[in-house]
Amino acid sequence: MTESNTSATDVDAVIVGAGFAGMYELVRMRRAGFSAVVLEAAHDVGGTWYWNRYPGARCDILSVDYSYSWDPELQQEWTWSERYAAQPEILRYAQFVADKHDLRRDMRFDTRVVSAAWNDDTSRWTIRTDNGDDITCQHYVMATGCLSMPKVPDLEGTDRFLGEVYFTSTWPHDGVDFTGKRVAVIGTGSSAIQSIPLIAAEAAQLTVFQRTPNFSIPARNGPISDERMAAFRADPDAYRAEARLSAAGVPRDTPMEGALMVADEERLARYEAMWEASELLGVTGTFNDTLANAESNETLRNFIHDKIRATVNDPEVAEALCPTNHYVGTKRACLDTNYYETYNRPNVRLVDLRKDPIETVTETGLNTAGESFEFDAIVFATGFDAMTGAIVGVDITGRNGLTLKEKWEHGPVTYLGLMTAGFPNLYMITGPGSPSVLSNMMVSIEQHVDWIADAMIHLRDQGHESIEPTELAETKWVEHSNDFADLTLMPTANSWYMGVNVPGKPQVFLPYPGGVGRYRLTCDEAVERGYLGFALDGPNGRTVNDGIIRPLAPDVQVMLETMAEMGLPPLETMGVEGARAFMEMAGAAMPPGPEVGEIADGKLPGGDGTPLEYRLYRPATAGPHPIVAYYHGGGWVLGSATSDDPLCRYLCVNSNSIIVSVNYRHAPEARFPAAADDGLAAATWIADHADNLGGIPGRLAVAGWSAGANVAAVTAQQAKLAGGPAISGQVLLCPVTDGTTDRASHADNADGYGLTMGVMNWFWDQYCDPTDRADPKASPLLADDLTDLPPALVITCEFDPLRDEGDAYADALGEAGVSVEHVQCPGQTHTAIPAVDALVTSEYARKAMADALRSFSDVHADT
Ligand code: FAD
Ligand code: NAP
Repeated sequence: MTESNTSATDVDAVIVGAGFAGMYELVRMRRAGFSAVVLEAAHDVGGTWYWNRYPGARCDILSVDYSYSWDPELQQEWTWSERYAAQPEILRYAQFVADKHDLRRDMRFDTRVVSAAWNDDTSRWTIRTDNGDDITCQHYVMATGCLSMPKVPDLEGTDRFLGEVYFTSTWPHDGVDFTGKRVAVIGTGSSAIQSIPLIAAEAAQLTVFQRTPNFSIPARNGPISDERMAAFRADPDAYRAEARLSAAGVPRDTPMEGALMVADEERLARYEAMWEASELLGVTGTFNDTLANAESNETLRNFIHDKIRATVNDPEVAEALCPTNHYVGTKRACLDTNYYETYNRPNVRLVDLRKDPIETVTETGLNTAGESFEFDAIVFATGFDAMTGAIVGVDITGRNGLTLKEKWEHGPVTYLGLMTAGFPNLYMITGPGSPSVLSNMMVSIEQHVDWIADAMIHLRDQGHESIEPTELAETKWVEHSNDFADLTLMPTANSWYMGVNVPGKPQVFLPYPGGVGRYRLTCDEAVERGYLGFALDGPNGRTVNDGIIRPLAPDVQVMLETMAEMGLPPLETMGVEGARAFMEMAGAAMPPGPEVGEIADGKLPGGDGTPLEYRLYRPATAGPHPIVAYYHGGGWVLGSATSDDPLCRYLCVNSNSIIVSVNYRHAPEARFPAAADDGLAAATWIADHADNLGGIPGRLAVAGWSAGANVAAVTAQQAKLAGGPAISGQVLLCPVTDGTTDRASHADNADGYGLTMGVMNWFWDQYCDPTDRADPKASPLLADDLTDLPPALVITCEFDPLRDEGDAYADALGEAGVSVEHVQCPGQTHTAIPAVDALVTSEYARKAMADALRSFSDVHADT
C-alpha cells in the first residue's frame, strides 16, 4: 500500500478543494513526484456536485464536453446516460475517478482551511485548518471553486422563520419531500430554474419570488446525439484539442455575421435552429455580435420574449417572466426542462418583486410590501459569492503581512487569473481574471492545473523556490481584461459576474472575457517568453522578468489576429494595382461612419494644374463652417478622396467643420514632389473658394493620416514659406515625418502591427528617390525652421513603425515654440484610429482630432 499524505505536517503542495480542480491537481502533483495533500470541507469528492443536490440539478454544458480529458482510458470507460447528466451521475463520475486513481489516499475530508500565512524566511506557507492543525508547504493551490461560497441570506428576518429552510447550494443528502406542502422559492437563477418544475410537481403550492427574470432555453434532455458522439469517438484527441482553442471550451463553428447583417427571416431561422439545438453556448453564439451590440442583442431578446409569451398562458405572468433590464448573456443564461410551462400549473404563483418587494421574513412565511405569505418551507436559490468568495473566505497573509482581503479590497487583482503579487506560490484554479465561469469549466480547470503543475516543475528544475507575478504585469492584465469587458455588454448587467449580487462587494467584471483559446495561448506565451511578468526567487537570488503580456488594446489585438488568420501576402508583393485594389476592398468592408449633412464631389487644380478629385463633407448644422483640407493615407501610392471616408465623416460631424478630402497625385505615376505640391495647391484653392464651398473665409485647417499627414505637415510648412494660405491648425495622425528608417520603432514595430516596414520602404521607393528624402517637402522633420507654424495635434501610436518619427516631430514643433498637443496612444497601431465604429478603444484619439479642429477654429474666432 502506498503511503498517504493525509496526516503529513509538511508537504510540497497543499491543495484546497476536492472538486474537479483539486482532484486533477492532485493527479498532476503525484505524476510530477510532489508530495501533496488535499484539504476539503465536504465529506467526499465532487465539489459543486457534492453540495448542489437540489431536485433537477444537472450540467448545462453537454456531458461529453463537461468531462475530464486527461485520462484517455476514462474517456472510453465512462458513458454518460444523457445529453445533460444529472447531479447524482456527475457525482458518481467524480467518485469513479477518485476510486480509479486512489485519490482519497491523499485527501483530508471534513476539513476547512481557515487561514494561510507566507513565511519569507522559510519560503513556505503555513496552512491552518478548522481542526487547529497546521500544515506547511511550498506551494498552496486554491482549488476552492468559483461557485462554492453560498451567498449569505440578505433578507431581513431570515433567522425568524420556524418552518423548513433549504439552500439549493447545500441541499440535504437524503433529499426533501415537499408533498402536500406550501413552498416558497426565492430566486430565479439557474438553480431555481432547474428546481422549480420538480418542486412544483410535488408541492401543494409553490410561490416563486422573482427579483430579476432570466433568459432560459429548453434543454431537450435525452440521449446525446449520435452525430456529436461520433465526432468525439472518431478522434477524441482532435475533439479535445479543438475545445481547448475554442471560444468557450466547446468545439463550435464561429459565426461570421452579426445579427443585423442578415435578413429578418434568416435571423429568425437561425434563432429557431438555436432554440431547437438546445445548447447554452448557441444562445449568444448564433451571431458574432450578440454580446457586443445592443441592437443585435435586442433581436435575440425579442425572440426569447416571444417564446415565453407563446408558452405561458397568463399574459401578465408571461410579461413578468420576460427579462427587459439586461441583455441576453450578460447574466448567465439557463437551460431548463419545462420551466416556463410550470407557470401554467394551478398550484404555482409568481410574485414579481420589482412590483412588490420582500420586506421581511416572518415566523410563518414572509411579507412583501403588499401581502403576507405563509409557507411550510422556504427554498433559497439565491446564489453565490462568486469567484472571490471562497478565496478571501480564507484569511490569507502574504509577504510583509499584507492580507489578500486588503489587497483585493477594491476588487481582485491577478495576473492571468492564476497568481497575485505579494503572495508567492499561491495559485488559483479558474481564478478571477481567467475565463473560468464564461467557459466549459472542465477545459479551464485542466488548463490551469497543467499550467500550475508545469510552473512548479520549472521552479524545481531551475532551483528556484518561489514564483509570483510582478505588479506591472498584474496591473496591466487587470486593465486588459477590463478593456475587453468594456467592448462587450457584459458590464451593463446587475450580475454576479460583476459582483452586484453580494451587498458591499466591489463591482468589477470578474472573469476574463477574451475567450478560452486566446487565453490559453496567452498563458503559454508567458511561459515561452521565460515566465514573462513573473519574479522567481531562490537561493541564487531573484530573477525578475517584468513585462506586459498583452500590451495591445483588445479590439486591435482581435483585428490583428483576424488579419493574421487570413494569411494575406504582404501588400508590397501585390504590385501597385493589386495593392490599390486590395485597399479598396478592405475599405469597403469597414463600417461607413456617421451620416453627414451633405456630400459633394468636385475637382480642383493640383500643383501642376492637373484636376484633382475631392469629396466635400458638410455638417448638417447651419453654415458657414470652418474648413479642413484633409489628405488621405496610403503611402502616397494608394487611396483616394473617398478612401478615408469613415474618418472624414466622423471629423465632419464631431468638429462641425466642412472636410474637403483631396485626391492628391499618387506615385509611382507622379513621384515626389507631386503629392507635396498638390497639398499646397489644394489648400490654396480651398482657401480661395471658402465662400463658395460654404466655409468661413480665413478658417482653414489641414489634417491627414500617415502619408496624408506628411502632406498636411508639408502643406503647413509650405504655406508659411509662401505667405499663405493662412492655416489655423494642423492635425497629424501617425505622420510620416522623416525618410530615415533607423529609429527604435522602425525596428520594434517592423512587422505584425498592420503597417510594416516592408511596405513602408516600398512606399518610399515608389514616391521618392533616396536623395530627395532629406528634402523637407518629403521629410518635414528635417526643415531648418519650424517656428511660426500653426498649432498642431500630433497623434502617435505605440505599435506603429512610424511612432518615433511622429514623436520627434511633435517634440521639434514644441521646441520651436509651436503650440502642440501630443497624444500618444498606448496599445494602438498605425491603422487603428481611422477605423471608426470598428475599433472602439481608439475613440478618444478620434475625439481628440475633432476637438483640436474645433479649437483651431475657436482660436480664429477670437482673433
Ligand atoms: P468546486 O466544485 O466548487 O469545488 C471546490 C471545493 O472546495 C468544494 O468542495 C468546497 O467545499 C471546497 N472548499 C472551498 N473552500 C474551502 C476551504 N476553505 N477549505 C476546504 N475546502 C474548501 N460549470 C460548467 O462548466 N458546466 C456546468 O454545467 C456547470 N453546472 C453547474 C451547476 C451548478 C449547480 C453549479 C453551482 C455550478 C456549475 N458549474 C458548471 C460550475 C462548477 O462549479 C464547475 O464546473 C466545477 O464543478 C468547479 O470545480 P472546482 O473543483 O473548481 O470547484
Ligand atoms: P444566481 O444565478 O445568482 O441566482 C440567484 C437568484 O436569487 C437570482 O434570481 C437573484 O436575483 C435571486 N436573489 C438573490 N438574492 C435575493 C434577494 N435578497 N431577494 C430576492 N432575490 C434574490 O445563483 P444560482 O441560480 O445558484 O446560479 C449560480 C451559477 O451557478 C449559475 O449562473 C451557473 O453558472 C451555475 N449553475 C449552473 C447550473 C446548470 O444549469 N448547470 C445550475 C445552477 C447553477 P437577482 O438576479 O436580482 O440578483
